[in-house]
Amino acid sequence: MPDYKAPLRDMRFLLDEVFDFHASYAALGASDATPDMVSAILEEGAKFCEQVLAPLNRSGDEEECQFNHGVVTTPKGFKEAFAQYAEGGWMSLAADPAYGGQGLPHSLGLLISEMVGASNTSWGMYPGLTQGAMAAIHAHGTEEQKQAYLTRMTAGRWTGTMCLTEAHCGTDLGIIKTRAVPQADGSYAISGSKIFISAGEHDMSENIVHLVLAKLPDAPAGTKGISLFIVPKFLPDAQGEAGARNAVSCGSIEHKMGIKASATCVINFDNAKGFLIGEANKGLNCMFTMMNHARLGTGMQGLCLGEASFQGAIKYANERLQMRALTGPKAPDKAADPIIVHPDVRRMLLTMKAFNEGNRALAYFTAQLLDIAHGGDNAEQRQEAEDLLAFLTPICKAFMTETGLEVTNLGMQVFGGHGFIREWGMEQLVRDCRIAPIYEGTNGIQALDLLGRKVLGSQGKLLRGFTKRVHQFCAANAEHPQLQAYFAQLAKLNQEWGELTQRVGMAAMKNPDEVGAAALDYLMYSGYIILGYFWLRMAVVAQGRLSAGGGEAAYYQAKLATCEFYFKRLLPRTAAHRAAVEAGSDCLMQLPAEQFAL
Ligand SMILES: Cc1cc2nc3c(=O)[nH]c(=O)nc-3n(C[C@H](O)[C@H](O)[C@H](O)COP(=O)(O)OP(=O)(O)OC[C@H]3O[C@@H](n4cnc5c(N)ncnc54)[C@H](O)[C@@H]3O)c2cc1C
Repeated sequence: MPDYKAPLRDMRFLLDEVFDFHASYAALGASDATPDMVSAILEEGAKFCEQVLAPLNRSGDEEECQFNHGVVTTPKGFKEAFAQYAEGGWMSLAADPAYGGQGLPHSLGLLISEMVGASNTSWGMYPGLTQGAMAAIHAHGTEEQKQAYLTRMTAGRWTGTMCLTEAHCGTDLGIIKTRAVPQADGSYAISGSKIFISAGEHDMSENIVHLVLAKLPDAPAGTKGISLFIVPKFLPDAQGEAGARNAVSCGSIEHKMGIKASATCVINFDNAKGFLIGEANKGLNCMFTMMNHARLGTGMQGLCLGEASFQGAIKYANERLQMRALTGPKAPDKAADPIIVHPDVRRMLLTMKAFNEGNRALAYFTAQLLDIAHGGDNAEQRQEAEDLLAFLTPICKAFMTETGLEVTNLGMQVFGGHGFIREWGMEQLVRDCRIAPIYEGTNGIQALDLLGRKVLGSQGKLLRGFTKRVHQFCAANAEHPQLQAYFAQLAKLNQEWGELTQRVGMAAMKNPDEVGAAALDYLMYSGYIILGYFWLRMAVVAQGRLSAGGGEAAYYQAKLATCEFYFKRLLPRTAAHRAAVEAGSDCLMQLPAEQFAL
């Protein structure tokens, strides 16, 4: 594993210089989140991730979780690291003070999760799933449930899970078989078997709070008949502590390609005692609170692993000596030049850098929206943030994981054969990243959500909420002395985006398959334009700093050079995605299923 160093300079660039988090924290009344406090939190978080979590990444991958008669043991050091994390208050950072939290802005939690995921993605699954479960209980639980569960989860004593998937259904949750039968005492008897449950069983906490989707006996068919239940591993006793064992057991754990130290469990419920959360048959709505949280978290995994991979690749590219530069030796005193002199290696490194830094900007912008959606001072402002979040969430999840996977693959390629063998840790990053486009709703499903539900389903309103911003930004900078060519390129694409959407919408009215056929390319096309917008937001700041003649010129020059690379070498990928969208569904649907494998 390459040594992980939290990219604090780049994080601060976005926080302080591009998005001005401090002004928005002040506007939100987050008086505790002073610049000094934020800085201290980031530095402490970086220290924990670099010194405690990163050293456990490789060993966790090699040891994996162990299963023995229903008991799951996490790799050496995981449990202690979790205790340290809870002790350090990291679990409670952005949680509600009414339940033991520190009440700091949600965005800060997301920033910390970037460092956690980059230093040890598998380990990050345990607190990550818990945060998602906490969000669902906070939004939909009763006061009693919040006191009983949230306080202990906030303290890091109990962890959480998300139990949706069953053997016969992952995407199509409308056909789940797990049943919930009402009991005389107001609880429910839950029976069924869930698979692939992350953090479903482990040795890191005193209790595990499963959030389980199940159907009531008289439930309507499909997703309208799903309810959500809290099913703790140990039932709370009279003092509210982990008491009698509930009828919940772990049947086995999966052996898998990556995130090997994250326990992926079969969880069996045999008339287990469960408690309804939210309204009956409205479980999917409640679960969406958790899934939206988890989707942003999964998108972050693309960035995290991409960052870890880049850190390894850039170091190696400066040290590894192979061949001479095409323009003549650059290190004549050495046996060969470092591979960073070669244009193709630079193509890989710059692609990695441009996606990572662009994705980070997208993620932090989204984090800021989370703060406003939770704490904005007027309903209109909160609604605007909610709308933008709804639009950006599937893009964060899918675009950041598709590009994150490309980045980790490139990182391995920079190492040549040494990337493919285990020694350097680069292949682990690819393996760990490969799940991110799959879980939390596959990227194909994210794309349908974006195009079908969010964009066409709102008659384009959610898209316009974003294109309007891009339009105003481009109009305001149309005469920018150094960057106007890029603003013109982005403005043209922004207009084209709306037109392309209209054409897909028209085609979809005649043939619903057009949405499914266009969806993934449409999502990627949108992602590239969105990153173009964020690259220009960063470039304007960097250019301003350089023109003002302050310090750190090299940092700002690097931003501008990477922006130029993005506009010249990556943004043009939109043309291929547009062509695929425009190609329509016929070429996908004409071949009969039985002719695919002749
Ligand atoms: C390591 C790991 C951890 C996981 N953690 C959890 C967890 O904590 N909790 C939990 O509940 N689940 C978890 N999952 C399950 C995960 O969310 C599902 O695997 C995922 O949602 C896909 O479901 P599936 O595997 O059943 O695939 P399927 O739903 O069978 O899909 C197969 C393929 O068909 C495509 N497809 C299906 N329907 C459509 C459609 N309508 N249109 C277009 N394409 C479609 C999919 O995109 C996919 O490519 C985890 C899985 C893994 C491997």
